[in-house]
Amino acid sequence: MKHGAWAYSHGQCRCDECRAGWRAWQLRSNDNRAARLAVDPTLAPHGKRSTYTNWRCRCDPCRAAQSAWFAAYSARRKAAVS
Ligand SMILES: [Zn+2]
Ligand SMILES: [Zn+2]
Repeated sequence: MKHGAWAYSHGQCRCDECRAGWRAWQLRSNDNRAARLAVDPTLAPHGKRSTYTNWRCRCDPCRAAQSAWFAAYSARRKAAVS
């Protein structure tokens, strides 16, 4: 089997080489995505948490969506604990 991002993403291996390969691949693809979205804003709708996390968009509407999600998430967690 070949080690690297592919083996990691298919859940077949978690060795150092695969983890490093996966990380490098993710960094690359995330960089590309952020750059592509900057060039073409129609690729992802702003004001959505998925755009914040998946596209790494940090515009005001996307940041607001992320904080709204996080507030709801924290509230749920607190409710679950108590
Ligand atoms: Zn491996
Ligand atoms: Zn945005």
